Amino acid sequence: MQVEATFPDVGLGTLVLRMSRSSPGRYSLHDFAKNVYDVHVTGANGREIETTRPDPYGWNASGHGGSATVKYKVYGDRVDGTYLAVDTTHAHINMPAAIMWAHGLDERPITVTFDQPAGMGGRWLVATQLHGEGFPILNNVPIPPSYTFTAPNLQYLMDSPADFGIIGIRRFSVGQKNFRFALHHTGTDAELTDYAKDVEKIVREEGAIYGEYPNYEPGYYTFIADYLPYASGDGMEHRNSTVISAAASIATGRGRLLDTVAHEFFHCWNVERIRPKGLEPFDFDRANLSGELWLAEGFTQYYGPLALQRTNLVDLTSTLRTIGGLIESVSGPGHLVRSAEEMSRMAPFIDGGRTSDRTNWSTTVISYYPFGGAIALAMDLSLNDRSDSRLSLDDFMRAMWTKFGKPGGVREGYVDRPYTMADAEAALAEVSGDRAFAHEFFSRYIQGHDVADYARLLSRAGFTVRKRNAGRAWLGDMRLESRNGTRVATLVAPTWPVYAAGVDQDDVLQQLDGTRIGGDADVATVLQRHKPGDTIPIVFADRTGVAQTKTITLGEDPHVDVVEAGSLSPAQRAFRDRWLKSRQ
Ligand SMILES: [Zn+2]
Repeated sequence: MQVEATFPDVGLGTLVLRMSRSSPGRYSLHDFAKNVYDVHVTGANGREIETTRPDPYGWNASGHGGSATVKYKVYGDRVDGTYLAVDTTHAHINMPAAIMWAHGLDERPITVTFDQPAGMGGRWLVATQLHGEGFPILNNVPIPPSYTFTAPNLQYLMDSPADFGIIGIRRFSVGQKNFRFALHHTGTDAELTDYAKDVEKIVREEGAIYGEYPNYEPGYYTFIADYLPYASGDGMEHRNSTVISAAASIATGRGRLLDTVAHEFFHCWNVERIRPKGLEPFDFDRANLSGELWLAEGFTQYYGPLALQRTNLVDLTSTLRTIGGLIESVSGPGHLVRSAEEMSRMAPFIDGGRTSDRTNWSTTVISYYPFGGAIALAMDLSLNDRSDSRLSLDDFMRAMWTKFGKPGGVREGYVDRPYTMADAEAALAEVSGDRAFAHEFFSRYIQGHDVADYARLLSRAGFTVRKRNAGRAWLGDMRLESRNGTRVATLVAPTWPVYAAGVDQDDVLQQLDGTRIGGDADVATVLQRHKPGDTIPIVFADRTGVAQTKTITLGEDPHVDVVEAGSLSPAQRAFRDRWLKSRQ
């Protein structure tokens, strides 16, 4: 993609042109300068000037005479919420991946022009939260050769993705608020029309949680969806829009696609306006750190499926599977190592990052998405439990909205009242009316290593946390692979029975209970002969090749499912309905 950016009235100092190293909402470093080439800077007199490269992330221009224009090409071929993708159907633009900016000019208003690409028929539309009109067809106006939009400052520009291409659009309103669902896909118009009705249901249900919608500054909120066979599955929140991409189509993946819609739309309150201090303002020169992503992402992860349940877009079986998954995640070995707060701080390494070296994350890291989702579940059920359903997590989210989101959402591009961990705890204290409860909840489940008593909390709603394989012997979730012998393919967690025998990743497993082991099926066969508590011999060779014989005391398979308890008492029925029924 060819990009041209002009910086007028910049004085006579060096113009520090940079590509972003980070992207709002995706927490690892991306170093977008890697895809930029053919860079030319011209000065005030129109003549090209020399640039220098003081670091890998940009170009410095001196002697420009007070204004400068940079022209460059940028390559991109990934349709998702972070990168750039250009082909014959669209330019899918996440601004940090595409736009070069200059240090010190953050507060300047910006004008962005999209030129129809030559040879594409001049029919492309623009879906974006930038200020301007990208859908002339809605007003029966001819499609123009170029579109002009504005952003009030750099933060807003960088937060404003655009899909410039062949796009279908549906509109709806809730009260005074306007919504646009813009879709680039391979399906039919009828599918889009029908799908947009489900999107509207979600928008209404989530609006009911807060009792109002934020002020969407362009006059509408825009869903920018790309359901294309070559898209990468993703969802990325922005202040007045979201990018949702998937390889699935409405016809093949409706349920999962709506789950992403529900998640991303919840973000227009939670994280876009109810925003952790560590993310505000966003720094495009470095990774941004927050210890509150368990709330920003995790609570959103909880509310997406909950909104789908409340609108009956999913059935109870699906919701219970989701809840079971949250409990399974938070119960993993990682919670003993890092708290939810510390897991949030792992985001710059795990959210879009790649490592070449081995890590021990499989046993020490739980994503703040399900971890935070499990905390949301515990907080929701605890508030309901303590108040006989007069209070719920909805009250907590409304309190966060009232104290931080709403008053902090005045300046477009910024959040003026971001919250801290202490603020969130204080909000829980206020909502519950119990400072000690709030402090204990935060210190045990968010900043500590305890797991809430989900079985008791869920029993209030008539659900049972049940062992998936009760009575089945278990030595850990170890997997084997055939690689110069039958080797342990996973890290061995300290919470697994096999850990006590000293078995480690890459060790060659030779015998278990006297049986030769050639793969996972052989282990399963041995375990079927035993019950939890049995002690059996194991023979294995460590990486030095030395064989050893140890014993393992088998445990019981700890994995759980959440199921309906059977007949409900009136109290359980009332509790369940208050939790899972529509708020509209
Ligand atoms: Zn999210």
